[in-house]
Amino acid sequence: MKSVRFITFGCKANQYDTQVLREALVRRGLAEGDRDADLVVVNTCTVTSEAGRKARQVIRRIHRETPHARICVTGCLAESEPEVLRELPGVEWVLGNGEAKRPASFLKSLGYEVDPEELGIPAGITEFAGHTRAFVKIQDGCDKSCAFCIIPKVRGASRSRTVADVCTEVAGLVAAGYVEVVLCGIHIGHWGLDLGLQLADLLGALVRLAPTDPSGTRLPYRLRLSSIEATEVDERVLALMVEHPDRIAPHLHMPMQSGDDAVLARMNRWYTVDEYLAACARIRAVLDRPAFTADILVGFPGEGEAQFANTLATVEAAGFARVHVFPFSARPGTAAAEMRDVVAPSEVRDRRARLSELASELGERYRRSLAGVREMIVLEGFAGLSGRYQRVRLDPEEIDGPPPPSIDVVLEARAKADGSGTELFGRPVARAASAGAASV
Ligand code: SF4
Repeated sequence: MKSVRFITFGCKANQYDTQVLREALVRRGLAEGDRDADLVVVNTCTVTSEAGRKARQVIRRIHRETPHARICVTGCLAESEPEVLRELPGVEWVLGNGEAKRPASFLKSLGYEVDPEELGIPAGITEFAGHTRAFVKIQDGCDKSCAFCIIPKVRGASRSRTVADVCTEVAGLVAAGYVEVVLCGIHIGHWGLDLGLQLADLLGALVRLAPTDPSGTRLPYRLRLSSIEATEVDERVLALMVEHPDRIAPHLHMPMQSGDDAVLARMNRWYTVDEYLAACARIRAVLDRPAFTADILVGFPGEGEAQFANTLATVEAAGFARVHVFPFSARPGTAAAEMRDVVAPSEVRDRRARLSELASELGERYRRSLAGVREMIVLEGFAGLSGRYQRVRLDPEEIDGPPPPSIDVVLEARAKADGSGTELFGRPVARAASAGAASV
C-alpha cells in the first residue's frame, strides 16, 4: 500500500484518534492520497443512528467509486456493529477501539511488521492535519451510564493520559504553530481519577508551559476545554480560568441533555436543573461574560409537553451562547432503547425546531453582549474563532499583508447586511506584552 485516505465521523476524540493513526501510517512511508488512495481508513461514530447510517453509506460509496481501494473501518461503530460492517463490500478490516486503535496494534492488523521498540511509541501527535486548532485527547472512556448513551460500552472505563505526555504534546503543537489546543476526551471532568489526580492538576501544568520559537521568543497559546459536565467545573478549575484568562478560553461546553428533573432522572443523569443552573451562576460570578454551550436531547422517552416546556425555560435561564439540539434516537444496547412512552417523530421534529429557534435568539443576544470585549482570535484567513467560541470577521483593510495565525482584537457587534441578525467583527489592537509569557 502506497497511499492512504482518512474519513472521520464524530467527536473531537475521534478526530484525534484519526491523527494518531495517520501519523503511524505516514511513519511507515504511506502518502496522503485522495480518491486514488490504496487504503481508506474510515473512523466511525455510533452516538446516533444517523451517524451509523452515514458511515455505512460512505463505505458503500467508496467501494462503488474506487473498487480497488482496501477499506479499514475503525472506531465506535466498528466496536458496536462489527458484523454489519464486515458484510459491506470492500471492507477488509474492522478494528474497534482501545487496543485496536493503538498505533502498533493498528499497523500489525494491517499486516505491517512492528519492531519491538515501536510498541513503546506513545500515541501522540505532532500536527493536526487540515486545522489551525489542534485537538489533544487527554482521556478516553466514561464511568457513567447515561440511559441514552452507548459510548461507555464501546470505549470502556475512563483512562487518563499522564500529565507529562499531555504537556509534551501540547508544547510540541504550540511550537509547531498551533495557537489553540482543545483538550478533548469522552468525559474530561474525570481526567486523573485513575491516577489519583484531578483535572485541575493537569490544567495547572498546562498553563505553565513556556513553548518558544527557534529564536527563543515565547509563543502565545490558548487552551480550550472541549466539553465538561457542569457539576465537574470545580473550584480549582474555575480558579485557574480566573487566574489565566489568556491561557484558558472562557468557554464551557456543558452538556445539559434536558431541562426537566424527571427526564434527567430517567436519563440517569446525576444532577438536577437547579444544580446545573447553580453551576452556571457560580461560573458567571467570576468570569467575564463566559460562553456556555450545551447539548440537549429532545424527544427522550417520557418527555411530554410539560417537560419540554421546562427545558425551554431552563435553556433561557442558562443563557446559552449556542445549543446543539439532538433528536433522541434509540441505540440498541442502551437502557433508553427499552423504554416506553416513546415520543412521536413529528413531535420530536417540532420540539427540535422550537428549541433551535430559542437557541438562535439566545445566540443573537449573547453576540450583542460581547461588544467591546477584548479577545485573541485564531484566524483562518480574515475570519476566526474567539475564546468565547464566536466567529469573528476582520476588515481586510485593517491587516497589512497575509493574516497572521492569531490576532488580538476588540469586538464590535454589527448588524448583518441582510438584516438577519448580528455578526461580530474584530478591530485589531496591540498584543499585551504578557500574552506570550509563561504564566508561572
Ligand atoms: S457522561 Fe453520559 S453521555 Fe457522556 S459519555 Fe458518559 S455515559 Fe455518555
